[in-house]
Amino acid sequence: MSIKDEVKKCELLYEGKAKKVYSTDCADYVIVSYKDDATALDGLKKGTITGKGSINNRMSNYLMQKLEEHGIRTHYVRELSDRETVVKKVSIVPLEVIIRNISAGSFSKKYGVEEGIVFDEPTIEFSYKNDALHDPMLNQYHAIALKLATKEEIAEIKETAFKINEILKKFFADIGVKLVDFKLEFGKLPDGTIVLADEISPDTCRFWDAETNEKLDKDRFRRDLGGTEQAYEEMMSRVFSDKENK
Ligand code: UDP
Repeated sequence: MSIKDEVKKCELLYEGKAKKVYSTDCADYVIVSYKDDATALDGLKKGTITGKGSINNRMSNYLMQKLEEHGIRTHYVRELSDRETVVKKVSIVPLEVIIRNISAGSFSKKYGVEEGIVFDEPTIEFSYKNDALHDPMLNQYHAIALKLATKEEIAEIKETAFKINEILKKFFADIGVKLVDFKLEFGKLPDGTIVLADEISPDTCRFWDAETNEKLDKDRFRRDLGGTEQAYEEMMSRVFSDKENK
């Protein structure tokens, strides 16, 4: 049995908005536990999306394994249960990396354009992960000046983020979903290797049905559209239909 089969949950290290992180008896790993709690609008809106923790955990793990098959390094180690996963312990690069294929959300608001404009090329932007400052948007020069990451690390993060976009866009197109935009976070292993961390789920991506443009993500909660649980379940069953067909 390898060490990663034996990992035991120890103490709570951190509780965030949607996840808890526990130390383990192995210094290289932590256990992430996904909650049903949801927040939006910079933490002003709070609620529960029943079943979300389990869906996000399982969907994110499945997508991370898909990305690994395409040569993307991730923090994923092993799914323990519906809500819990062993991941590599990383130091998170304090940047939110947002890729957009179609205008929506803050992009539409900031630049005064309708939602749904398909871009010729995907865009990338960064926010500084800092709740007290409300995650301000910054560019790569600011990130380097603030020593949030080195120039080389940013170059690698950008290249990897665009590669992830190409893989995920195709994956979701095959299950009838437009990948509108999404947020990634990266972490550093003790040897400095950059890996994809955090999660890929309806909390962190905008998914629109390819035929109807129906929203199948957290915008249903953010915008009080109703049917949030059903949208998460629909995404889950589409993602896992891919698995069953393989
Ligand atoms: N996003 C996220 N966490 C954040 C901010 C954004 O996961 O703290 C995701 C969001 O789900 C969407 C994409 O990043 O898929 C772009 O979000 P946007 O900047 O449009 O912000 P929003 O309109 O969600 O405030």
